[in-house]
Amino acid sequence: MAIERPELKLVFDEPKQKVKPPKHFADLDPEGRKALAEEIGLPAFRAKQIATHFFTHYNDDPETWTDIPKDLRALVAEKFTPKLITLVKSVTTDSGKTRKDLWRLHDGVLVESVLMRYTDRTTVCISSQAGCGMNCPFCATGQGGLTRNLTAGEITAQVVAAARICAEGELPGGETRLSNVVFMGMGEPMANYNAVMRSVRNITAPQPDGLGIGARSVTVSTVGLVNGIDKLRDEGIPVTLAVSLHTPDDELRDTLVPINSRWKVKEVLDAADRYSDKTGRRYSIEYAMIKDINDQAWRSDLLGRLLKNRNAHVNLIPLNPTPGSKWTASRPQDEAEFVRILETYGVPVTVRDTRGREIDGACGQLAASEITSSS
Ligand code: SAH
Repeated sequence: MAIERPELKLVFDEPKQKVKPPKHFADLDPEGRKALAEEIGLPAFRAKQIATHFFTHYNDDPETWTDIPKDLRALVAEKFTPKLITLVKSVTTDSGKTRKDLWRLHDGVLVESVLMRYTDRTTVCISSQAGCGMNCPFCATGQGGLTRNLTAGEITAQVVAAARICAEGELPGGETRLSNVVFMGMGEPMANYNAVMRSVRNITAPQPDGLGIGARSVTVSTVGLVNGIDKLRDEGIPVTLAVSLHTPDDELRDTLVPINSRWKVKEVLDAADRYSDKTGRRYSIEYAMIKDINDQAWRSDLLGRLLKNRNAHVNLIPLNPTPGSKWTASRPQDEAEFVRILETYGVPVTVRDTRGREIDGACGQLAASEITSSS
């Protein structure tokens, strides 16, 4: 007999939007960009020129594009590169190597991205939605609900801004290349699937059609929307998949990750396996370590048994503090024991650093308010 599943309709419905964000050429595929050029009376080759400025030189100001005739620049700016995100403020920590940027969108909505320079790579953590509808009780983003989906242009603009910051040497250590992109900021990427996929293509397509960042260096993190994971598998772009599991048992996961009432732990892991089988990629299991909630030895044992024959890697995230939450991070000895047990099953496990915690820029802390963001 088929199991009755609650229809979490609201979660997937596009929230009402008063004014649509301006259309941007990053919302379109390369064919669509050419078509747009022709539609406004420009030869199709202009689309490539525009893409080169944007994706190769991270320049979104047509007034400075000398290969575009002066009298066309205003039209190009309006139709191809309207300003989608405006920097409200930046907060830094780690001597400037971690930087959280607060962006205002055309309708006043705020989102955040976090740029992190490490010795061997520089990663930007971007938002795919303003707010989030998934309602995980330990995550700050979920507490305000979903405001709206971001467009591909708005998502891509966060990455291009980060690439520009790196290229212009704004981070300590001088010029560098943006090497990694993680969809781990505000929002549930799989609940804004089409815009996220267009953005993934913009990020991974070779220049000039995209930023030319390798698919393996792009991570899409999800609470476990199985339909989205299956769709992603069929795209043929082997991005890294991360699944926010947080506990191996359905009883607790129903409260920690409420979408679990629709797709259970086993269904989510099976979808991740299908993804791994098709792409050959190992996936990540994200697990926020919450003191006395999900960090018991028996849960580590259960997780080890679930994962021992899977192509998965566990990333433990010490719980980051969020306003109003009664929960805290696990004790060091409990965390160490959790790791030890997982390792007895041969499951690879790492503990994520808490980069950005001091500026409310770490996992689960992005809430995008001009007032609460520390400065
Ligand atoms: N909605 C997606 C993308 C967000 S990724 C997802 O949940 O996967 C952000 C990661 O940080 C997720 O694994 C999330 O569960 C985790 N997280 C949320 N709140 C946290 C907190 N307070 N401390 C540590 N990790 C947290």
